[in-house]
This record gives sequence, C-alpha cells and structure tokens, in this order.
Amino acid sequence: MLNLDGSMGEGGGQILRSALSLSLAKGIPFTVKNIRAGRRKPGLLRQHLTAVNAAVAIGMAEVEGAELGSETLTFCPTTVQGGDYSFAVGTAGSATLVLQTVLPALMTADVPSRLELSGGTHNPFAPPFDFLERAFLPLMTRLGATVTAHLERPGFYPAGGGMFRVEVNPVATLSPIELGERGEVIGKRVFAYVSNLSRQIGKREIKRVKRRLSEENTEYCVVETSGSMGPGNLVAIDVESECLTEVFIGFGVRGVSSESVADQAIDATRRYLASGAPVGEYLADQLLVPFALAGGGMFLTSKPSRHTLTNLEVVNLFTEVKARMKDRGKHVEISLG
Ligand code: AMP
Repeated sequence: MLNLDGSMGEGGGQILRSALSLSLAKGIPFTVKNIRAGRRKPGLLRQHLTAVNAAVAIGMAEVEGAELGSETLTFCPTTVQGGDYSFAVGTAGSATLVLQTVLPALMTADVPSRLELSGGTHNPFAPPFDFLERAFLPLMTRLGATVTAHLERPGFYPAGGGMFRVEVNPVATLSPIELGERGEVIGKRVFAYVSNLSRQIGKREIKRVKRRLSEENTEYCVVETSGSMGPGNLVAIDVESECLTEVFIGFGVRGVSSESVADQAIDATRRYLASGAPVGEYLADQLLVPFALAGGGMFLTSKPSRHTLTNLEVVNLFTEVKARMKDRGKHVEISLG
C-alpha cells in the first residue's frame, strides 16, 4: 500500500487523479491524505468524486472515503474491466479530467471501451474538449491504443451539462514515443465558439486573431453551438506541426471583452511558437502518466509547471520507470525510462 500526501507540490486534484490512473493500471493500492490541501475548498469535489467512482467501477476496486469533502481516500483495485460506461459529474466540474483518470488503464484493457461522459466540457483550469480531442488523444493513439472522442453537446462553465463520447481500442502494451522536435508548422485553425450568445462575439475574436497572428496557412471559423445549457464563448487555436498538434484556449467570461478573450489564446500561441518546444505547458503534465505506463519516452518542453513537477513525483512513486528532467538551454527535456 502506497501512502501519498495530497498536499505535496502543487497540492491540487491532479495528485489524486494521477494516483488513481497509475494505481488502476499497475494494480497498486494507495492511501492519500490531505486531498487538495492546497486549494481554497479542500477535499473531494463532485468532479473528483466522479473520477474516484469511475476508477472504482473500471478497476472493480474497494474504496474508503469516497464522499464529497473527504480529505482521505484509500483505493484498492482488482482487475481492469473495459466495456461500456457512463459517468456524469452532475455539475460543471470537468468531465475531461474524469476521462483522463480512467483512460490510461482502458488503453491496455482486454476489450474495447465506449464511454459517455457528461458535465463540463470547456472549463477554465481543466483540459477543454478541443484540447483533449486534437492535442491529447492523438498522442494516446501514437502510444498504440486508438482513442477517439466525439462532442455531443458542449458544457461551458459555469452551467455545465455537456456530453461527449469516447471509444478506446486497446493494445496489449503501449509503445514509448519521443517528442523531441515540433517540425515545421503545417497550419493553424482558429475556432471561435459562441453558444447562446451573439455571433458578433466570435467575429470580433477572429478579427483580433487575424490582426495579431500571421494569417499564413490559417483557417478561421465561428462555430455557433446549440443545445448547451448556458451561455458560452471560447477561442481555440490549433497549431498543427509535422510532429504534433497543440491547442491553445481563451475562455470567454462575462465582463471581459471579446478581444481580451482572443488575446489569451493568441498570447499562449505566440509563446509556444516562439519557444520552439514541441510540448506546451499543459500537455507536459498530462503526458507523464501515459508515458510512464508506456515504460518510457521523452519530450521537450519550456519551463515545467508546478503540475508537471508534482506529477513527476507521483509517477516516480508508482513506477519503476524513473522520470528525469534535464536542462537543454532554451528547453527542458523530460525523459522516462
Ligand atoms: P488540477 O489543477 O490539479 O485540477 O489540474 C488541472 C489540469 O488541467 C492539469 O492537468 C492542466 O494541465 C489542465 N489544464 C488546465 N488548463 C488547461 C488548458 N487551457 N488546456 C489544457 N489543459 C489544461
């Protein structure tokens, strides 16, 4: 039984989610105390509890402390069961984070899985569906399992109520990959989503992106989504390079101008393009668990975030695959193996 302290490093929900992912895939039981001690409202929120319950179902696990607000959890998995599952966060809490918790184990399950996930699909401080679909999942497919996602209905923060489906075709063993370079930029795609809001907002955002980012090989699209519970606005900029795609986001917030929303995504894109590193800040922390389960791999990123540093520690606790960081001047190399 591994004992973890949830207040270590970054001190948020990721320590718990990564521990659940690694525990499921490796069959290692653990206890974690001080869950989300570093957050304003510590303990399990609805989103974390949904992730725990999803891991319990998929890992046929025994669990103690799976309650809202709980700051200690004990999780003992038995066998991973692929198949059909439906998980609902029930608030605007991120459904993409629930998926990321159970996905690594399902990628090497005995049978394919089909998941229906509902809750928030586009939340600040969590991977938005667009990032999941076009940046994260293609890399999971490169590890060997085929993973695809389809958005049925967006769920913007704070209303939530979104839904997406995921299909996982597993492999026996994941294969390590190296993301040591980005290659040439093939093109960019800019999406301005508006839901229950004026199309004009999206048009202003696209105009801003055209002013501040090169228009070379770029497609632009205002997407009016219907069926979402609340209003929502988001700018997503895809940078498709020879070796991978990264996705940068600006979240619309009431009282913030369309131009400022676009600027969030533009600034993140410009930083990424200027850095030359293939892997951006968010992708970096999210790749560590799947890479560890693939038994190795390497990527270059810019300065690692606290999420990345903390996740490195969690990975090193659960696996014999040691994760290391090396300073490469302008970049940092993270290697596992
Ligand atoms: P936590 O703060 O522990 O709940 O973890 C948040 C997770 O969401 C981390 O894995 C971040 O990399 C991820 N995340 C936050 N914002 C974004 C974003 N804009 N794009 C992609 N991933 C994100």
